[in-house]
Amino acid sequence: MPDFRYLIVGGGMTADAAVQGIRERDPSGTIGLVSAERHPPYNRPPLSKGLWKGDPVDGIWRPAAPASAELFLERRIVAVDPHGKHATDDRGARYGFDRLLLATGGTPRRLPLQSDQVIYFRTYDDYRRLRAIAEQPVRFAVIGGGFIGSEIAAALRLAGRDVVMVVPEQGLGARVFPADLSAFLVDYYREKGVEMHVGEGMAGLEPRGSTVVVKTTTGGEIPVEIAVAGLGIVPDTDLAEQAGLRIDNGVLVDDHLRTSAPDIYAAGDVANFHSPALGGRLRVEHEDNANTMGRAAGRAMAGADDPYRHLPFFYSDLFDLGYEAVGELDPRLETVADWKVPFREGVVYYLKDGRVRGALLWNTWGQVDAARALIAEPGPFTPAMLRGRLPA
Ligand SMILES: Cc1cc2nc3c(=O)[nH]c(=O)nc-3n(C[C@H](O)[C@H](O)[C@H](O)COP(=O)(O)OP(=O)(O)OC[C@H]3O[C@@H](n4cnc5c(N)ncnc54)[C@H](O)[C@@H]3O)c2cc1C
Repeated sequence: MPDFRYLIVGGGMTADAAVQGIRERDPSGTIGLVSAERHPPYNRPPLSKGLWKGDPVDGIWRPAAPASAELFLERRIVAVDPHGKHATDDRGARYGFDRLLLATGGTPRRLPLQSDQVIYFRTYDDYRRLRAIAEQPVRFAVIGGGFIGSEIAAALRLAGRDVVMVVPEQGLGARVFPADLSAFLVDYYREKGVEMHVGEGMAGLEPRGSTVVVKTTTGGEIPVEIAVAGLGIVPDTDLAEQAGLRIDNGVLVDDHLRTSAPDIYAAGDVANFHSPALGGRLRVEHEDNANTMGRAAGRAMAGADDPYRHLPFFYSDLFDLGYEAVGELDPRLETVADWKVPFREGVVYYLKDGRVRGALLWNTWGQVDAARALIAEPGPFTPAMLRGRLPA
């Protein structure tokens, strides 16, 4: 059984950032990294953005894990013994550890049809498969109007393909953006040539010859060659459950990213942490959180004593629109829009009881730290006080 000072389960961005964090504090402690994927860690955001615009694939690979950890790829850890301090993979191999990190991330939600004509989009292999199919004159349906659905639909259009979006809400990004912005995006996607079906959920999928028919909740039938599912992810907590750790919408961690078991840590998409800035628990599925929390977990495992207080930001690109955002973006909150150019450039503030909970920086750059500072202010703020506060 190989024994490691640090064992990391998962081969994503969080895992790689953790290796970096460990090395900042401990130059020589042994690190093992076990990943279910066949590739070493890489950045996921380019898979739905930059790579479709010509960025080189070479740019996605991350350096820390290959340089400092022993990698065990295409192996899934199926059991962790917190008392015996070892983990077992799906081939029966055991790995001893002093400190363990769960960086297992999440798995795409599945559609109710097992078929080669349905694609889930999470990994580099998913990208390669979709990209190869998109070389052909194939018609795609993208199911779901959240982050991944919106980005994939744009990517496929950039590749010149016919794309239909099936979105149960009335607009794109409707769980994040105010209703008017979300509705604007529907028109914007139409202008870009995407066939939009909004307010129409997917009721079923039926293979029919070489096509798959998307049946919608309003009785529509949309035949396409390939359906891409963008239904969000489910945090991968099976292992944590098996190990008897506390779970509530992810693996619960304290402010040093420790789980309920001694010497076992969790970070990234799978971890549920307390945010002092927002005064509540969060589980965040974004890059900045994966990088910052992964690194902090690595440092904590190697003895650092700094609490994790970071309020992560996130970002996305939708054709030639782009944004960064911080805090709680819930359109059910009061929103104050400060547009320089309506729906093209400006800031949307999200407020609760006069206090800023979140900020959407729409084609507005370099304001993330200022937005964090605003969220930390007690307020109360009126709409007039917010105009021009984070200049576009
Ligand atoms: C296509 C795409 C585009 C994105 N774009 C953006 C963006 O523009 N902006 C943004 O902020 N965020 C973006 N994100 C989100 C961001 O990439 C994620 O938040 C981040 O990758 C999460 O990293 P993670 O390591 O915590 O989890 P994951 O990336 O899910 O990695 C988990 C890893 O653990 C492995 N694993 C799971 N269980 C086991 C096990 N039992 N044994 C061994 N290995 C296991 C998995 O195979 C995987 O390698 C995007 C995500 C995707 C998929």
